[in-house]
Amino acid sequence: MSSQERSSPPTREATAASTDPETALETARRQLDRVAAQLDVDDAVLERLSHPAAVHEVTIPLERDDGSVEVFTGYRAQHDSVRGPYKGGLRYHPEVSRDECVGLSMWMTWKCAVMDLPFGGAKGGIVVDPKSLSDDEKERLTRRFTQEIRDVIGPNTDIPAPDMGTDPQTMAWLMDAYSMQEGETIPGVVTGKPPSVGGSYGREEAPGRSVAIVTRETCEYYDYPLSETTVAVQGFGSVGANAARLLDEWGATIVAVSDVNGAVYDPDGIDVAAIPSHDEEPEAVTQFATTLGDDPGGARRISNAALLELDVDVLVPAAVGNVITADNADAIGADIVVEGANGPTTFAADTILEDRGIHVIPDILANAGGVTVSYFEWLQDINRRAWSLERVNEELESEMVTAWTALKDEVERRNVTWRDAAYAVALDRIAEAHEMRGLWP
Ligand code: GLU
Repeated sequence: MSSQERSSPPTREATAASTDPETALETARRQLDRVAAQLDVDDAVLERLSHPAAVHEVTIPLERDDGSVEVFTGYRAQHDSVRGPYKGGLRYHPEVSRDECVGLSMWMTWKCAVMDLPFGGAKGGIVVDPKSLSDDEKERLTRRFTQEIRDVIGPNTDIPAPDMGTDPQTMAWLMDAYSMQEGETIPGVVTGKPPSVGGSYGREEAPGRSVAIVTRETCEYYDYPLSETTVAVQGFGSVGANAARLLDEWGATIVAVSDVNGAVYDPDGIDVAAIPSHDEEPEAVTQFATTLGDDPGGARRISNAALLELDVDVLVPAAVGNVITADNADAIGADIVVEGANGPTTFAADTILEDRGIHVIPDILANAGGVTVSYFEWLQDINRRAWSLERVNEELESEMVTAWTALKDEVERRNVTWRDAAYAVALDRIAEAHEMRGLWP
């Protein structure tokens, strides 16, 4: 039996006393407190939004390939559903924790509201290193996890999706396990599936595509013609690789890319189309690095930390959370930071970047193409009618430009940071829904 516990997040005092780098929950709560102080939002609504509606913790026994049994812990944090079903990814990573899921679920609530999607926010995962599992083990773990959270997910209640360490195959197993138990095929229970089982064309590339779109819009706005813009991208997974390839195609010069082992820097630009993404061929950036010469002025290997400090126009952190912290925020060399990953900038670092006049385009807008195409996928599943890739990309383009423009208007109107603007737009929509629905009983 899965155990379900009601949430008891840390108090505001405890959050304020924590140090940088922070947990995702600490960052999320500090960000909420900051905008709450600026906006005229009902205190009761803010109080409700400071807490997740529920956090489900489950135990997942797995039979390993050698016959032994190992027990893993899984979570599903459901933050707020005032605007629609809970929505958000499932992460397989050794550092998954209850607090991380809660913080990430809060960001999903804001992200869906920034994009004006009829969804709330959720996030979940399993505390496991997916690299330590065979494909068969990953399948068994996913199916059993699905069984343990089956009562709290569903196409109209909570719709998972891929995140770090999970992929379209994982989502297909989840859909199958859920459907087998329900006695009918229910593709809308999960998004990010392969197109052969109700997934949407363009879903895998969507977070990277949205990063590229908002980078293009922001560069234009601040007078950086893409043809003269240099970009460093940290992380070459689906988000980083797709963003880098599109920006390269649109004329920007990608001067640095990286994977977990390190980065490559070429002041003349890297042919990113020639490097496979991490999903296509793990650690291909490392392979590419071995082909480089020793010319100190030419293409060369640098550390991931050095990539973040390069003197470029745009930095796209698209790997993991908490990479821009109070320790390196003073050394960030870019004029614009576009957050491809979820939570790459800590709260303390954000303030330093703001003081330095660096524009930070927040994750809840920048990578929101993922959940936006998830929404398109969900619509396709409900209607049993697939869209073409062209239609997906056209509608994504239009949704991203609309959302970017709403934030830009808010930045101009109140002279605030892009993150504050995103929170203001999101909170306005969420608070209005809470006020209209009221508190029952
Ligand atoms: N995991 C992705 C995110 O952080 C996608 C969520 C979804 O599509 O539901 O936005």
